[in-house]
Amino acid sequence: MKIGILAVQGAFIEHKNMLNRLGIESFEIRQKQDINREMDGLILPGGESTTMGKLLHDLDLYEPISNLINSGLPVFGTCAGLLLLAKKISNDERIYFASIPIIARRNAYGRQLGSFNANAQFDSVGEIPMVFIRAPYIESVYDNAEALAQIDGKIVAAKYNNQLVTAFHPELTDNTAVHEYFIDMIKNKNS
Ligand code: GLN
Repeated sequence: MKIGILAVQGAFIEHKNMLNRLGIESFEIRQKQDINREMDGLILPGGESTTMGKLLHDLDLYEPISNLINSGLPVFGTCAGLLLLAKKISNDERIYFASIPIIARRNAYGRQLGSFNANAQFDSVGEIPMVFIRAPYIESVYDNAEALAQIDGKIVAAKYNNQLVTAFHPELTDNTAVHEYFIDMIKNKNS
């Protein structure tokens, strides 16, 4: 199994380290030719969604990645990556891949709670540590998208077919559960 990690901006190294720990091969996607490599899954990291969105277009990566997602490639977006995948962002007119039926709210925790840690249940996996950095949350999921985790009544993770999103950064903790969850999504698709 091989996973591509979008590496134009943001926290991509941490995802690579996490996959290394799990014995999963990965490579960085920096330019158009990287998209031609064989991959079983794709990670869109945290960072700044507006910057990543612009770079995706400038580097001609937007269309090929959009096609891969729409053709069913398993994709995992964390934080800004969640915003890149959301069909709607309630407080921002920009949309990017618009592939997962969720309504996200950008920088949703305001200034005081800009960054914080929490522990919460993640699907049937159990309680896991969650790190939030100027994070979005998910106001609602629709069209059979599934909420996987909530904190104080706000959805912070969701799944829809081949797509997984978290408002938090599992790659900044020691806990590998969410990456394993994504790897299972890839395995289940291929089986
Ligand atoms: N605030 C960033 C954005 O709007 C996301 C922050 C992050 O990825 N840690 O894109």
